[in-house]
Amino acid sequence: MKTRLFTPGPVEIPIRILRALSQPPPHHRTDAFRDVLRRVTTDLKALHKTEGEVFLLGATGTGAMEAAVVNLMAPGAKALAVNGGKFGERWVRLLETYGVPHEVLDVEWGHAVDPAAIEERLAKDEALAVVFATHSETSTGALNDLQAIAAITRAQGRRLVVDAVTSLAVHPLEQDAWGVDVVVCGSQKGLMLPPGIATVSLAPWAADAIEGERLPRFYFDLRRARKALPNGETPWTPPVSHVLALEEALTMILREEGLGRVQDRHRRLAFAMRAGGEALGLRLFPANPSHAVTAFLPPEGVEATALVKRLRDRHGMIVAGGQDQLKGRILRIGHMGAYDLADLHALIGAIDKCLAFLAPDSPRSSGDAMGAASRAWDTA
Ligand SMILES: *Cc1c(COP(=O)(O)O)cnc(C)c1O
Repeated sequence: MKTRLFTPGPVEIPIRILRALSQPPPHHRTDAFRDVLRRVTTDLKALHKTEGEVFLLGATGTGAMEAAVVNLMAPGAKALAVNGGKFGERWVRLLETYGVPHEVLDVEWGHAVDPAAIEERLAKDEALAVVFATHSETSTGALNDLQAIAAITRAQGRRLVVDAVTSLAVHPLEQDAWGVDVVVCGSQKGLMLPPGIATVSLAPWAADAIEGERLPRFYFDLRRARKALPNGETPWTPPVSHVLALEEALTMILREEGLGRVQDRHRRLAFAMRAGGEALGLRLFPANPSHAVTAFLPPEGVEATALVKRLRDRHGMIVAGGQDQLKGRILRIGHMGAYDLADLHALIGAIDKCLAFLAPDSPRSSGDAMGAASRAWDTA
């Protein structure tokens, strides 16, 4: 049976990127590879819309998150973590692990953080030097208003570190224009690669954020990355095959389809998925949904877990369930990267077949769902 990934990472990988990955790994201390690394870095800056620096790490997104914590936090300095799901919680765990004094702004799962709540916390405590937040909260499918959050941290003179793992190349994100100090990302979401590369991007005005006494850092010491990059190098052996693949992905995104059109396609995909799912009786879970992942509550009387399992076993369609407090309650459908309306039609058809078995009496019409998705795709 053919397997299709509709997971919120890893995602389907285009053939061209697989081909780039299958080349014999080049040696990294060669002029040819140094040129690739320089080109990829330049493209990553264009992707982040920053004139600052972007560093490549051999890690997944969590490694980039850890790199941000150890490079930004001076011993004893205090942080604010915004926690509205599993990935917000990951900031909290990292801060705990490194003994960073911190406060947590808890957000109800499925909701975006109210920027005014961040403003209030910062105004109350001048010591909160760095804010750690998530742009697209993959565990709930909710999107935070990054531009509004950045406006507040800039106005209050605090640093903002954003996990953009499922928003980069999916949602508009203008690091410099919006005033985001640090952006972290990973490769297996909107960048269409396997897991293995992570990035940390520093806005031009945040260059000094990693200098001085900080938490213990070695592998993730970005000062070493900064020193090596002008030579087209990284301090350690980079994931060379992934770098070649990333060059291909960035060519597809920036020079072929175009970043604006890529983001536009994700918006239309998200609207199509919501419309098609709702026509089948699924209920959108988050209040302010992301374009990267669509989280649904199943129709009344259907177990989310049974639907996820049947989609996988009968149709080869892999979607994700919920985590922690949402375990067994929701299904999460990823549509980041190389997806189109035909992919969603296939998934909607499969969901319809599953529901015909799991909830034979529920009112729904597969033809209507396909049509609803098409109309949303056309008009979104
Ligand atoms: C996938 C993801 C990460 C990174 O997780 P890894 O398991 O380290 O790849 C971080 N943040 C968000 C929002 C994600 O979706």
